[in-house]
Amino acid sequence: MNVKVNDTVLVITGKYKGKQGKVLKTEPKTNRVIVEGVNLVHKHEKARKANDTSRIVTEEAPIDVSNVELVCDKCGKATRVGHAVVDGKRVRVCKKCGAVLDKAYAKKAKKAAAAEQKEEAPKKRTRKRTQKTSETPETAETAAPATEKGEE
Ligand SMILES: [Zn+2]
Repeated sequence: MNVKVNDTVLVITGKYKGKQGKVLKTEPKTNRVIVEGVNLVHKHEKARKANDTSRIVTEEAPIDVSNVELVCDKCGKATRVGHAVVDGKRVRVCKKCGAVLDKAYAKKAKKAAAAEQKEEAPKKRTRKRTQKTSETPETAETAAPATEKGEE
């Protein structure tokens, strides 16, 4: 698949033809992608817990990757994807203007511009497990004499 998460794609066929959106998820196994605002379906969600309310949720359903085309940042056109090697790495390039489509490399190419628009990296939360200190509660019972067996 030539489409990756966070790419902007244009839907080229089907009900949402002509609509652009950001790729939210890719499913390489099934060759499908989920595009923001495209192929919206209503899901009827039933309340499962006491405080839940049954509701109708609108969300994107996956569409086939062949129904979308990658949109180039540089020329703004939907394009097929070519490949090139930059710094020893295989990158995706725009077939129409030749710009590198992989964001990491596009950034490298224009270092100065990148300094201005620092992408806010999603803060990864490293879950800190509260370490269980070996707090064996010392009760007063420890001092109490062991009860005799047979007394149940
Ligand atoms: Zn282009």
